[in-house]
Amino acid sequence: MERSQHAERLADLIGPANVLTNDEDKAPYLVEWRDLYQGVTPMVLRPGTTEEVSAVMTYAYEHGLQIVPQGGNTGLVGGQIPAENGAEIVLSLGRMNKVRNVDPVGFTITVESGVILETLHQEAEKADRLFPLSLGAQGSCQIGGNISTNAGGTAVLAYGNTRDLVLGLEVVLPNGDIWNGLRTLRKDNTGYDLKQLFIGAEGTLGIITAASLKLFPKPKKLEAAFVGIETPQAALRLFSTAKAKAGPVLTGFELMPRVGVEFCLSHLDGARDPLSAPHDWYVLMELSSGSEAFPIRDLLEEILGEAFEEGFVSDAALAENLTQVQDFWHIRHGMSEVQKAEGGSIKHDVSVPVASIPDFLDKAMSAVSEFVPGCRPVPFGHLGDGNIHFNVSQPVGADKADYLAKWDAMNEIVHGIVHDFHGSISAEHGIGRLKRDLLKTVKSELELDMMKRIKDAFDPKGLLNPHRVL
Ligand code: FAD
Repeated sequence: MERSQHAERLADLIGPANVLTNDEDKAPYLVEWRDLYQGVTPMVLRPGTTEEVSAVMTYAYEHGLQIVPQGGNTGLVGGQIPAENGAEIVLSLGRMNKVRNVDPVGFTITVESGVILETLHQEAEKADRLFPLSLGAQGSCQIGGNISTNAGGTAVLAYGNTRDLVLGLEVVLPNGDIWNGLRTLRKDNTGYDLKQLFIGAEGTLGIITAASLKLFPKPKKLEAAFVGIETPQAALRLFSTAKAKAGPVLTGFELMPRVGVEFCLSHLDGARDPLSAPHDWYVLMELSSGSEAFPIRDLLEEILGEAFEEGFVSDAALAENLTQVQDFWHIRHGMSEVQKAEGGSIKHDVSVPVASIPDFLDKAMSAVSEFVPGCRPVPFGHLGDGNIHFNVSQPVGADKADYLAKWDAMNEIVHGIVHDFHGSISAEHGIGRLKRDLLKTVKSELELDMMKRIKDAFDPKGLLNPHRVL
């Protein structure tokens, strides 16, 4: 059957306005945030209900059509972008954006997968609750994409990864079957926990159409400090002190290098340096509590007081109001985006045991500087989770394409060091297309075999997000 005939049949299923075939309409779905992938597709499908997703998948399964699910298109490993050969159809979840139920008493919310993360925050807030998942892309990424990538972000320290926030899922399987697993139970030991298979599967096993999620008490008190620090070792000491004193009240602990803060000051609207003197490193530390009674300001001052006394912190700004807290986070959340303005950036999303971070940074920064003299390492991220975005900007004035041609070689160097520290080469962004070949180097044959058997069981024709992950 001709492509145009498929488009017509699919238009019968979801409406002609929701089958995009002209180049201008398709364009935003074909390029990803870093410009690393430029896809080609015969059409973009925009179903509006679970039944429509099911009808599309049933049709695709019968006719052997390959489907790529796409959420907010902020993924950083290319999984949501169709292949360059034009064989894959994009299925966008953007129209599936209804809030189905909010239960403030049971602390749950049930939403469709196309709901934007920031909208989900607002819905929780209306009910005086918190949905804690928080990342720089939250104005665009969708909860279905977050679940499919098991997104991490800045709140993992206190609330866990996305996996820890999901209670139930509704999923359309590759053959069009609808699985309604939208349970809101906190305890349910009735056999295999099937939802776990789809969380972090990067759209290779099924299309998530809705999710029941955990809510938390909305913080009644929030305190933050922007701390100037001279070494990652000192940042680790501060983390250890803060965690020991504050426990679960410590809800953010992010490391940033001076060069990253400078990039923000140059390229991020509204960013200003919270400290008057420059420091080699910074920590953004946040404490929050659902109780008005908890003296978290005192606790923050106590932690910093001890750090000053022992000499591993030399400077800090404490937010005096919520706007200042937001100003601090603005710098941290802007840190990915501003690197684009500084030319090519070679990325690594890695994790190592928390206590190994200073040694890892030391070795990795020396190794990349030896490999490309003049390159500018911008390692930043979730120190409290052992997760560093080890990004390396090109030397000033270097040719961007020449520099980016070193991507694989630099990855090999950095990943080799990660391996030495028993770390992970993808802490939170997933595998997608970018790291597919690397997966073979870090998983055992048995692990790869088990993954392939799961994929074959759900998608025997290999039509859903083919060539991603495996
Ligand atoms: P997409 O990019 O559209 O898709 C991602 C993957 O999920 C693809 O494989 C796609 O096929 C699949 N998929 C999407 N929706 C569905 C669905 N409904 N059903 C099945 N499969 C689906 N990530 C972090 O973990 N932590 C961070 O701190 C972080 N910060 C970021 C900051 C910036 C500025 C940017 C641009 C990205 C950041 N990311 C981060 C990466 C990205 O935002 C996350 O991976 C996010 O979860 C992707 O959501 P999305 O809706 O954009 O998904």
